[in-house]
Amino acid sequence: MPPKILPATTPGQLLRASPLDAIDARVLLAHVLGWQRTELITRASQKLLVDQVVAFHALEERRIAGEPIAQLIEQREFFGLNFRITPAVLIPRPETELLVELALAAIASIDAPRVLDLGTGSGAIAIAIAHQRPDAIITATDRSDAALAIAQWNAHHLLPVDRPGGPLHFAAGDWYKALPQHGRFNVIVSNPPYIAAHDPHLTQGDLRFEPRQALTDQANGLTALHTIIAPASAWLTNDGMLWLEHGYDQAAAVRTQLIAHGFSTVRSVRDLAQIERASGGLKA
Ligand code: GLN
Repeated sequence: MPPKILPATTPGQLLRASPLDAIDARVLLAHVLGWQRTELITRASQKLLVDQVVAFHALEERRIAGEPIAQLIEQREFFGLNFRITPAVLIPRPETELLVELALAAIASIDAPRVLDLGTGSGAIAIAIAHQRPDAIITATDRSDAALAIAQWNAHHLLPVDRPGGPLHFAAGDWYKALPQHGRFNVIVSNPPYIAAHDPHLTQGDLRFEPRQALTDQANGLTALHTIIAPASAWLTNDGMLWLEHGYDQAAAVRTQLIAHGFSTVRSVRDLAQIERASGGLKA
């Protein structure tokens, strides 16, 4: 039996009829068809298969119900790499690329630097660093086994097997408790849950569909940051650096914690939206 073709269903018609944001509709349709987004223009009048139309409408429905695009297409680009994303992990945000840049700057002049990413989620930060610095020796932790499985999948698919720094070390557990022994790192990075429990953003947009334990500390938003900062010095080499992502209004509190725990040259860095998004310091 030849494939069924709905007489007049084309990409152009589906996109014009879609109630979604134009960009969302295009991303979902390109995903369903396995096309580049430009092909939606060049092949706008091509007749589609029934199954393709049905699959697009199914994703359209889920998007209308609020599911994040990254979860619907199971991927999100971060630092030029295409990460697999599921509901088990935080969706990488563009502003988190700042943390990668800060970590890369911190290890720029160190051969085979040792890097620790606490609460790695999809592995985005650790894998982006590993990709830029093939010689870096990298450990990534998460308390969620489901997240670690995704991070491992991403590392396997995005990094060469023969990278000089070796495969990433993944460790399950809460922050430093995941680490097997008292190693020393040249840089520690983390994008921990920093949204306060009562923050209304948790009930809006993509955040409703992301793992709650990746978003909020269930308290005032500063407890995970503090849990990471307090023992950090013991895990850093001399002149090692700690860099943390935090909320738009937390920079001063994080700098205060860093100074209280002996860090020097403490500073905050703004993201592209001019928000103080990451803070860090040097082990004195
Ligand atoms: N940056 C995320 C957001 O505001 C939160 C990520 C986090 O808590 N680490 O949506």
